[in-house]
Amino acid sequence: QEEKLETKFSPIQFNSDKIRSDGDNLYTKFTYENSIVETDANGKYTVTPTNVDYEFKLDLKVPKTGLLLVGLGGNNGSTLVSAVTANKHNISFQNKEGVVKPNYYGSVTQSSTIKIGIDKDTGKDIYAPFNNIVPLVNPNDLVVSGWDINSSSLDEAMERAKVLDYDLQRQLKPYLSEYKPLKSVYYPDFIALNQKERADNIFNVDKEGNVVTNDKWADVERIRKDIRDFKSANDLDKVIVLWSANTERYADVLANVNDNSENLLKSIKENHEEIAPSTIFAVASILENVPYINGSPQNTFVPGVIELAEKYNSFIGGDDFKSGQTKIKSVLAQFLVDAGIRPISIASYNHLGNNDGYNLSAPKQFRSKEISKQSVVDDMIESNQILYNKENGTTVDHCIVIKYVPAVGDSKVAMDEYYSELMLGGHNKISIHNVCEDSLLATPLIIDLVIVTEFLQRIQYKKIEESDEKYQDFYAVLTLLSYWLKAPLSKPGYQAINGLNKQRQALENLLRLLVGLPVNNELRFEERLL
Ligand code: NAD
Repeated sequence: QEEKLETKFSPIQFNSDKIRSDGDNLYTKFTYENSIVETDANGKYTVTPTNVDYEFKLDLKVPKTGLLLVGLGGNNGSTLVSAVTANKHNISFQNKEGVVKPNYYGSVTQSSTIKIGIDKDTGKDIYAPFNNIVPLVNPNDLVVSGWDINSSSLDEAMERAKVLDYDLQRQLKPYLSEYKPLKSVYYPDFIALNQKERADNIFNVDKEGNVVTNDKWADVERIRKDIRDFKSANDLDKVIVLWSANTERYADVLANVNDNSENLLKSIKENHEEIAPSTIFAVASILENVPYINGSPQNTFVPGVIELAEKYNSFIGGDDFKSGQTKIKSVLAQFLVDAGIRPISIASYNHLGNNDGYNLSAPKQFRSKEISKQSVVDDMIESNQILYNKENGTTVDHCIVIKYVPAVGDSKVAMDEYYSELMLGGHNKISIHNVCEDSLLATPLIIDLVIVTEFLQRIQYKKIEESDEKYQDFYAVLTLLSYWLKAPLSKPGYQAINGLNKQRQALENLLRLLVGLPVNNELRFEERLL
């Protein structure tokens, strides 16, 4: 039994004999329990519990962190800088309902709580803020910059976005006018043609101002330099790059082009047409060893990019923010299937009037979004062979429609119909109608993705049985980010986990284990056993 540790890193005192600290790091012993299933030729399962002892090491120092957004001048980009500025400077504003204080509602790390145990006397659940368990970056301290193919400063971008109330815009304007997006790389073939008129802030142009796509390696080098300059100019310990720019079309995954890291680098140098701007940003970030997160649906993470990230041990995560409709789907479909009810069709309609909607009105860009939205129920269907099997069918009719309706602006409308089969031939229809400012849903997700990515960089582990083993980082693809992502990128060979509750459980349990608490269970023996 080790001595009790005074947990200075948290306002909470964790009395666990599993943790120790040398002031700089927190060391935790944790036994990972699971069960391994073997299936014989007749389909019979044999299940064996397993456990592995690990030691985790958490660096307790919160670094000065910078965020570089690709698409800084977009609705999400300008809303993110607005949110950080309003919170940092405590800017309250007046709307028709009264005074609104700044907050980070919608952010799991800033505005949600996790259960830390039950009250000693009453057995009641006790919750603490998510960001009180271990030290996390405060979003108010983030240094934000980024690139945009459009030159508008962020006060103009904020006005163009029409997301925030006027009184807040008015107060933010002097701060936001200081932000000017860096020039970016633009290959017109990847985003909708209708975005062309926005593209007045690009560096891959010749002397006459014509777009040049025949020096893609120079584009990588330019982005790498931007990352380094940002880091040194702001005296940052860490930088994270996040794509919140327009949805690109899918890149073709081709043999000898982007199928492995070597071919990918060669293809960039040969200016292959399937190398997208997002590939340039991803590769530049990996080569600079800064995490790269993809908030849009396109397949930036082709096999060559994933392999490059593995080689450089550089973190990547994606794809596509899971903000509204899909978030509900990843709860509702899970609920139905877990309740033994059989969804047979899910029809999802959206209309939106912001620039994202305008870009998605082009077929190839819509297709990227459609693929991303469609995959979300796959693992849930596969989990229940009573409802989905050869006899009943193994799929759900899943239809996605997105229409551009300028009048509604950023207030996206999402309508969903879940049609399910009940007992003895009965049917059930659930209809959902959801309206809100899209960017106010997405921006808190960006904050969480950045805060958690930085946090995951400070965690290392080793297996206890191999005592001479060095501490290791997490695997390059950060699947712990999947809570915030519509089409979670997984380790090659592994299935993506879409269910929101499973995703959240993993995050909570990671926090719990680091401070020496057991993984969460709801057995409640105090109440249920005599
Ligand atoms: P937006 O169109 O307002 O912003 C995108 C910005 O990216 C624009 O300012 C554009 O000029 C810029 N851009 C385009 N290509 C670029 C490049 N190569 N380099 C730098 N900048 C570039 O869109 P938004 O509403 O901010 O959404 C951003 C992305 O997030 C979209 O792809 C969208 O599909 C995705 N997304 C948004 C939500 C949401 O709820 N808002 C949810 C999921 C995914």
